[in-house]
Amino acid sequence: MNRDAPTGADRVAVVTGAGRGLGLETCRQLAARGCRVVLTARDAGRGSRAAHDLADAGPEVATAVLDVADPDSIAAFAGWLEREIGRLDVLVNNAGVPPDGGGLSVFDVPLETMQRAMATHVYGPLLLTRSVLPLMEAGGYGRIVNVSSTLGQLQSMGPRWPAYRISKAALNALTAATAAELEARGSGNILVNSVCPGWTRTDLGGPKAPRSVQEGADTIVWLATLPDDGPSGGFFQDRRKIDW
Ligand code: NAP
Repeated sequence: MNRDAPTGADRVAVVTGAGRGLGLETCRQLAARGCRVVLTARDAGRGSRAAHDLADAGPEVATAVLDVADPDSIAAFAGWLEREIGRLDVLVNNAGVPPDGGGLSVFDVPLETMQRAMATHVYGPLLLTRSVLPLMEAGGYGRIVNVSSTLGQLQSMGPRWPAYRISKAALNALTAATAAELEARGSGNILVNSVCPGWTRTDLGGPKAPRSVQEGADTIVWLATLPDDGPSGGFFQDRRKIDW
């Protein structure tokens, strides 16, 4: 039998790549809204230090090791989550690698660069989502947020950064396909959306970016806490739907 739909204080939220940047700020904002946050990072020490920084933000921040580019790490994390926490309400697939440097194009981007971007931005979210979906379905509630980028928009696809652009376009396709699959299996109450946080001052975005992490995380958190009649299968920036 499904448990009651959770209210703010007992929601469990998992955020990937949360040792710094937008992932860390997303944890902070979700914790401040009363979620029980599971801050994940591929490096245990970085995760612990980040959680320590959040100590004043909210009721509870747990940490776990998770490398989204490693299927064994995803399987181990999913097992830990089921055993130790036993529920999941919100998943934020945030982990990301920077746009490929060096002025690369589709004609010369190394295969390893493509593989790293695809493993982090596409295969990781795919494997993690389906590993933890049974917990969400058991709870009869779910919000999945895939942190993407307008650099992956097909309607304005440009040159440079091919691995980043193509992998984020594929992440957006994963969002749309997941929403359709959830609807088809009667789990349309689990809402899944893509978001572009905008150009944000993080290690990835650099110091010249116009947005603070607080501004960048706003729409991520908005999508992670949508009401039951909220949208699913869309791409959002600044709380508004944008083109794929
Ligand atoms: P960031 O500060 O560089 O943080 C990226 C995070 O991803 C780090 O915590 C990093 O962990 C983690 N990560 C990378 N590979 C991972 C893996 N295999 N497994 C687990 N974690 C991994 O960048 P950010 O700006 O916060 O980026 C967060 C998301 O926003 C990314 O998906 C990015 O594409 C997207 N985004 C950012 C901007 C922007 O302007 N900043 C714009 C559009 C979209 P380590 O600390 O271990 O390296």
